[in-house]
Amino acid sequence: MDTELDTELDTSLGTELLQGMRAALPALLSEIETLVRVESPSADLAAVARSADVVAGVGTRRLGVAPDRIVVDGHTHLRWRLGAGPHRVLLLGHHDTVWPVGSLATHPWSTAGGRLRGPGCFDMKAGVVMALHAAAAAGRLAGRGAAVTVLITGDEEIGSPSSRALIEQEAAGVRAALVLEPSADGGALKTARKGAGFYRVRITGRPAHAGLEPHRGVNAGVELAHQVLAVAGLGDPGLGTTVTPTAVSAGTTTNTVPGAAEFAVDVRVRDEAEQDRVAAALAGLRPVLDGARLSVEGGGNRPPLTEAASAGLYARACALAARLGLPPLTRAAVGGASDGNFTAGAGTPTLDGLGAVGGGAHADDEHVLIDALPGRTALVAALVLDVLTGAGGAR
Ligand SMILES: [Zn+2]
Repeated sequence: MDTELDTELDTSLGTELLQGMRAALPALLSEIETLVRVESPSADLAAVARSADVVAGVGTRRLGVAPDRIVVDGHTHLRWRLGAGPHRVLLLGHHDTVWPVGSLATHPWSTAGGRLRGPGCFDMKAGVVMALHAAAAAGRLAGRGAAVTVLITGDEEIGSPSSRALIEQEAAGVRAALVLEPSADGGALKTARKGAGFYRVRITGRPAHAGLEPHRGVNAGVELAHQVLAVAGLGDPGLGTTVTPTAVSAGTTTNTVPGAAEFAVDVRVRDEAEQDRVAAALAGLRPVLDGARLSVEGGGNRPPLTEAASAGLYARACALAARLGLPPLTRAAVGGASDGNFTAGAGTPTLDGLGAVGGGAHADDEHVLIDALPGRTALVAALVLDVLTGAGGAR
């Protein structure tokens, strides 16, 4: 095959794919180790740039071509645009982590008892290596017809402020976005993620001496208390909407009526209508105390990833897992957001959680199950080929 793709992933191709990934396990492990050994906390721009160099080196050896190195506001992202064809698939991941420099000393790289460990191994350096191997395998099996974009960003863990536009640009017009974030409990794929919004409510009162003339003040702390309770009541458990006042502050000294106060609000929703409802309610907050003033900043940070955006791809993945002889897949709806929220928000069919199987993201017991690496990587490669050749898109 060169520029034309076969119409079906037949059994022999599936077997070849799986055997190839099993044979590649030592390479998968050594490349994951290489990435884990370069620490890359999102906010440390120099560390993220060093990590990007290492990911670029591993990927260039694996894919035979160097990536575009895209630096936005100091954050380093990598993009490979491979192959050419009528349809294209996006493989999406990130190489930044939540682990500060020095974490390797307390959480060293190790492999024991079928698990590999190290800072960011599960979220998601294993997934980065899996994406590279899946893209390479798709290229081997389908030649130039495997039109695959691999995008590895460097600021996902801080909300993707510098990569959002790039992600949305690369997601526009592709047949599917496959997100190599770690799987949910028991290896479940992530078929829905809540959308997230972050707000800050600022209150202006009037400071006064709390002993001499408190009546001359307008207590921003008391106003804050009213507003925190009002905001906390905006959630809707039945619809999965949570509205949580988080960081709260008011006042200056123990004997001064607070002249200013503010609090942050974390909003999580399953659908856009709820995002709009909560935004309107926050914009409609009014002061309770005479003389107090309110301002509300912020908004939706990530749109929801809904089951509607993932259902077609999940069905394909289940069928392919059976054809590859892998254990049956499961799925989960999760509260945490990822860059898959952006690709779904761009209208692109999106399936998330296709990366490592394991657990302990952002936690001391972060680990990856080594046994599952070849099968999951083969599944991603099979999904790429299936989406590129299948009829009628991925919904
Ligand atoms: Zn992640």
